[in-house]
Amino acid sequence: MKLQPGITVVKNGQLVDGTGRPAIPNAAVIITDGIISYAGPAAEAPPAPEARIIDAGGGTIMPGLVEAHIHLTYFNVSELQDLDIKFPVEYVTLQSAVNAKTALECGYTSARSGGCLHNIDVWMKKAIEEDMIPGPRLSASGREICGAGGLMDWNPDFRRIGMEGIVFIVNGPEQARSAVRKLVKDGIEWVKTYPTGDAASPDINDHHTLCMTFEEMHAVVATAHNHGLKVTGHCRATEGIRNALKAGYDAIEHGTFMDDECLDLLLKRNVPMCPGLGFELFSVQRGKEFGLSQRVLDGHQETLEAGAESCRKVLKAGGTLGLGGDYGFAWTPHGTYAQELTFFVNYVGFSTLDTIKWATLGGAKMMGREKEIGTLEAGKLGDVLVVKGDVLQDISILENRDNLLAVMQGGVVKAGTLVKPASF
Ligand SMILES: [Zn+2]
Repeated sequence: MKLQPGITVVKNGQLVDGTGRPAIPNAAVIITDGIISYAGPAAEAPPAPEARIIDAGGGTIMPGLVEAHIHLTYFNVSELQDLDIKFPVEYVTLQSAVNAKTALECGYTSARSGGCLHNIDVWMKKAIEEDMIPGPRLSASGREICGAGGLMDWNPDFRRIGMEGIVFIVNGPEQARSAVRKLVKDGIEWVKTYPTGDAASPDINDHHTLCMTFEEMHAVVATAHNHGLKVTGHCRATEGIRNALKAGYDAIEHGTFMDDECLDLLLKRNVPMCPGLGFELFSVQRGKEFGLSQRVLDGHQETLEAGAESCRKVLKAGGTLGLGGDYGFAWTPHGTYAQELTFFVNYVGFSTLDTIKWATLGGAKMMGREKEIGTLEAGKLGDVLVVKGDVLQDISILENRDNLLAVMQGGVVKAGTLVKPASF
């Protein structure tokens, strides 16, 4: 991805640097050839003659947001089944490119995939890195892995529909290994698995159900780690979280029913967790109009409460969280990602500074790129969000794109109201 040559100074705003430290009023951020060379009080900034100036207008200067569990290939579906039968790969790819642009316009300068259709992430990442299309710096996932009869194995056999574009359905460790080997060849970074079910499938694969055996999960980890890939999993039931941590998973998605033993295992290796929790509340609030049954809604309510408790436990114990998750359903459409931050402040009870830290540095850590992105500190990439208004007073201003003055990657202003709208 190109870096902005020359010197850019962002000034006239408070600095919320993403480390969790208190804001610095009247700050300046200097970006030299795309890399941050200074971030701190404007009064102490080194002189920068002939710099390009970006005026924050008394608002907030903060790191670009990091979506820690994005599904660029999900096209605002109301039913999981739509994912594999509605559109061919060509159309899903085009929709994904639009979603990537939307995410960037919403202030998300980086994102870690939580699973994708076909092998679109890998090529999307390349297109974004080569400035062919706009989008967040991406950690690519691929087709997911689930045990036969599990959450993702939804097509009844009489339909004779394969699931090749979405998920590898595995029976036993041998098939789990062979699925990972295909993903190695696909060029992905994250292997996404389904250790447990979900409230979305209350009859046979609910949130207390296991969808993979420990042996299958262990085979996935051993094969993936051998080739330098990382492994994560959709973990709701306590035993699924425990199996994942014991099998050597590199991250946990959701971590809903986290008991003390799981928490100890999580902290022992400092395994990061992406709760993806706003989805549960928004399902409860808006699911009915999209036809979700009362049983499904009840399950989401149970998951919401347990998930919020588990987030508070992880925060208190000093664990690492990444925020984001499961936008791309009808009731959580692309473009509404930042409501996750408002939800964490208003519902889960996190402080605004903590919430911003996990939505920037936390996501960067999950991507393994915290040395390059996630905070505004000298030496890091100039991935900066310039916001009209005080995010510490009202985090929800991030939900409205009109409040984003500039969205910068490597010092290049890619979106925001300071950019003139493109003409066609
Ligand atoms: Zn997901």
